[in-house]
Amino acid sequence: MTHKILLGILVSVAVVAMYFKPAPRDSQARQTYREAHLSKLQDFFSEPATQEANGNSVLLITIDTLRPDNLGMYGYSRNTSPKMDAFAKSSTVFSRAYSTAPLTTPSIVSMLTGFNPNRHGVRLLWQPIDRDTITVVDYLHRAGYETAAVVSNIVLGNEACKLGDRFSFYDENVDEPEAHRPDMLERCARRTTDAALEWLQNRREPERPFFLWVHYIDPHGPYDAPSDAPKDFSHDAPVPVDMERIAEYVREPELSDAAEYVDRYDEEIAYTDREVGRLLAKFDGLKFGQPPLTIVTSDHGENMMEGHTYFSHGYDVNNAVIHIPLIVRHPSIKAGMSDRMTSITDITPTILEFVGLPVPLPLDGVTVSQSSPSRTIYAEGLDSSGSGGLHRTLISAMTKTVVQHGRSNVPRDNWRFDLANDPTQQNPLPVSDSASEYVQLCNLIRSDPDPGGRPTHLANGQHNHGPVAGNTDAKTMRALRSLGYVE
Ligand SMILES: [Zn+2]
Repeated sequence: MTHKILLGILVSVAVVAMYFKPAPRDSQARQTYREAHLSKLQDFFSEPATQEANGNSVLLITIDTLRPDNLGMYGYSRNTSPKMDAFAKSSTVFSRAYSTAPLTTPSIVSMLTGFNPNRHGVRLLWQPIDRDTITVVDYLHRAGYETAAVVSNIVLGNEACKLGDRFSFYDENVDEPEAHRPDMLERCARRTTDAALEWLQNRREPERPFFLWVHYIDPHGPYDAPSDAPKDFSHDAPVPVDMERIAEYVREPELSDAAEYVDRYDEEIAYTDREVGRLLAKFDGLKFGQPPLTIVTSDHGENMMEGHTYFSHGYDVNNAVIHIPLIVRHPSIKAGMSDRMTSITDITPTILEFVGLPVPLPLDGVTVSQSSPSRTIYAEGLDSSGSGGLHRTLISAMTKTVVQHGRSNVPRDNWRFDLANDPTQQNPLPVSDSASEYVQLCNLIRSDPDPGGRPTHLANGQHNHGPVAGNTDAKTMRALRSLGYVE
């Protein structure tokens, strides 16, 4: 069998795995887990808040599919991010920040809850957050904050993820079809910034502290920045690759020069940077009683010429897809680079700390001020080999241990990377059975309430039958229907 055919089969299996819906299983373990978790949450909400928030407002900006090493403040040679670089000069830039998953929905839910995916339970791209899972938005809402979001990725629409219900204002006007998948909808950065500014300038209550989350989609493939975007990037020598290696939804007919795809990805970043700069400029011009907390990050990275499929994400736990930018600005924290190990789960406790609210539940994340260079960070990604299971990793500053398993809670293969000497993870090394990261990962796999890392309570199709609001527009309905989300 030729390499090309084998690769085609692998990619097909992987694509099927992305939308795999698990068969019904005994979900007793998960129910027991959820009941214990829920009773904790109910206790929390039945008790009066012990502390009042300090009224600091918060702006959280997420940019979908953004690799840190394609940004100026992380050392990129191209000038892709002048506006964010200027913002970073007065911020802490975390060089070792990781997402919990290379997939939008599980990662964003980790960001808004402080939990790893095995604890918040959202493992799939099209999966709503459990009704009783508490998010940072709920904490802020209870503390009297105005909570607003502007999202531009169809999977963050309220009917898909149910996050919108948590906010007092949720702009999900996502209606631009992708070039090669017309049922996948997005909204460009210019319109996203316009919507955020409309809320900031005209809709919010000026006297109330607020939490505003703005999610941009543009660096997500296909890479086709609008015609008025900065298009300053070109390469000298072409890098021809087998077209089959390029993700189908990103692939342009006849374009096999991988360097051209990188140029176009960078153009998307530069375009988004311009629009993030426009939002930050207006935000910084607002009058605040106390200086606000501002965070810029991403939900996951993107393979360039790496991983099982070029110019894509969603699988495995390579740094290309789970290493993320994290830039935090507040006058009380020192500006500059930080090598503390940080996770997207740290954003919830960090926000709570900066607004003066306690963190009553044991979260997986810690505040960025409590993170340390010696910490280990957890992440998981769908196994691209088609086993139907996951790759799970624990990453420290020096080593990265990975354990693979299929559709059961039985660890199979394992390997590790010596990050100090092999930062691009080219040389997998054997793992000792007694290594603490390996033991921790095996315990985590065996005790996961979702066998194989797939939600057992979402038996075939069940999660696709939620009520759909009457005001869901026709395009959104078509998108949800095409993915089996609604009938
Ligand atoms: Zn994403």
